[in-house]
Amino acid sequence: MKRTTTRKERKQRKRARRRAVKAKLLKRKNGGEERHGPSIHHILPWARGGRDGNNLVTLPRSIHEAWHHIFDLLTPLEAVVFIGIVFLSGQTFTMKDLAALRTFIMERGAERRKQESS
Ligand SMILES: [Zn+2]
Repeated sequence: MKRTTTRKERKQRKRARRRAVKAKLLKRKNGGEERHGPSIHHILPWARGGRDGNNLVTLPRSIHEAWHHIFDLLTPLEAVVFIGIVFLSGQTFTMKDLAALRTFIMERGAERRKQESS
């Protein structure tokens, strides 16, 4: 069977593959820039009305992802309340309990902000 690519094309592809692997290894060596590069977080989440420019903080991407994994859309103050309840109550929490607690805290926070603004 006749090859459809030329020797030169195959050589170029091989070189491109090697470059991609080398770049990937270098990125890993440098602490995985993609995973740890900067990302912008809304202190009061965008979805909860935090559209103000003073509401932004730059975090390493991995920390930002961890924040949302644990605290979802809580504000830092609400996260403190969440930590207090979870770690000081002596209770056992399931993932469902934690989600319900976050929702409860968010609703209370929204009520509080509404009262403060009126
Ligand atoms: Zn965020």
